[in-house]
Amino acid sequence: MSQVPANINEKKRREHRNSHVILTSHFNKVFSKSLPITWGAKDPMERGPVIATLSNLDNKNAIGSHSGSYTIYRALSIAAGAFPRDHKPDLENTDPTEFVAPQESWFDPEKIVSLDPWGAHVNSVFKPLLDTGYNIQPTIAITQAHLNIPEIRESIAKGNIKVDGKIITTAKDIKVTKVAIEPVWYLPSIAKRFHIDEGVLRKVLFQETGGMFPELVTRPDLKVLLPPIGSSTAYIFGSMKDLSNPNIELTCRVHDECNGSDVFGSDICTCRPYLTYGIEDAARTAQRGGVGIVVYFRKEGRALGEVTKFLVYNARKRQKGGDSAATYFHRTECVAGVQDARFQEFMPDVLNYFGIKKIHNLHSMSNMKYDAIVKAGIEIVNRLSIPDDLIPADAQVEIEAKKASGYFTSGSVKSGSTLDQVKGRKLEEK
Ligand SMILES: [Zn+2]
Repeated sequence: MSQVPANINEKKRREHRNSHVILTSHFNKVFSKSLPITWGAKDPMERGPVIATLSNLDNKNAIGSHSGSYTIYRALSIAAGAFPRDHKPDLENTDPTEFVAPQESWFDPEKIVSLDPWGAHVNSVFKPLLDTGYNIQPTIAITQAHLNIPEIRESIAKGNIKVDGKIITTAKDIKVTKVAIEPVWYLPSIAKRFHIDEGVLRKVLFQETGGMFPELVTRPDLKVLLPPIGSSTAYIFGSMKDLSNPNIELTCRVHDECNGSDVFGSDICTCRPYLTYGIEDAARTAQRGGVGIVVYFRKEGRALGEVTKFLVYNARKRQKGGDSAATYFHRTECVAGVQDARFQEFMPDVLNYFGIKKIHNLHSMSNMKYDAIVKAGIEIVNRLSIPDDLIPADAQVEIEAKKASGYFTSGSVKSGSTLDQVKGRKLEEK
């Protein structure tokens, strides 16, 4: 059975696709009228728009395309004839519900390297170019939402957080501003942050994606890449403009995706309890006149992916002696080749985007996250670990292993035989 929409005939399909393959490595053929990008320039017109749309290759000035990992689905729907490849989005009424004021950090080419700070402002700052036909697409979108979360309702019932009609409505919803951010990489500064040569970075990115973007190696003049990876979302509790004021109390949780726990409530780790506790405390901070931010990064399974993660779960639970805190990190490394592939080096970019200078309460036990934030020039006053009563029984292995390896905790740390004794549930084989 064909999955292709039945209402699209072959003629239309051919119209939607482009019959010629144009190699973007030949710069006399494409990018001939592309605008330069001066990363970090103060005037947005001087900085130049990031143009990664494909409707007019003459104008394109960045490698890759929009929508992060969904770029492949867009290609698929064009291949199926479902929508035209030269579609130009109608941006009317899509402007942010609240604008992020330009911050000093936007004008330092090394401070923000993995997102475009002008990404939400495309419609206003690049209007003269849009009016003359340039197809410039926002890489950041900002809207308002209400969050209705069972754990927060429980906390309201227990009296841990109150309905104030402002941050938490009488329907027990939390009011937030949410900001979706697509990855936009400025390659020279990305290389610098990793202390590697830009040419080496470009070559390895090209090789290890099976040669996905030839321009990485053939067009060193193009410095910006929109990588086909997951995006990030910031949830802001209270006033967005307060984030940049170091005198206003700020509570922050930087959370890496864990679909199994975050969405499905799987109990092998502490991800969802940590996330919902972070949300609760961010809302509580906003209620007492401060501001909260929770940033959600699509870096599933320490950016190793969910397949690797589930393989590790099996390996942990089937090993001799069963799942144990003492061997937690070792088993991940055996399967994945590395303990962690998240690279927190880019994470503070989102915080710098909002002009954050001081975090009063950081909800994280991770030293990698802490070090990256401090290195980015942001002060951290208090570090908060997850309260013991929120840790699921089967997640004791993870939490004790992390504490033993040096993750931050205000509680005790196990070692030797006491660490060996922390065991997880046996695998219930089918
Ligand atoms: Zn998890």
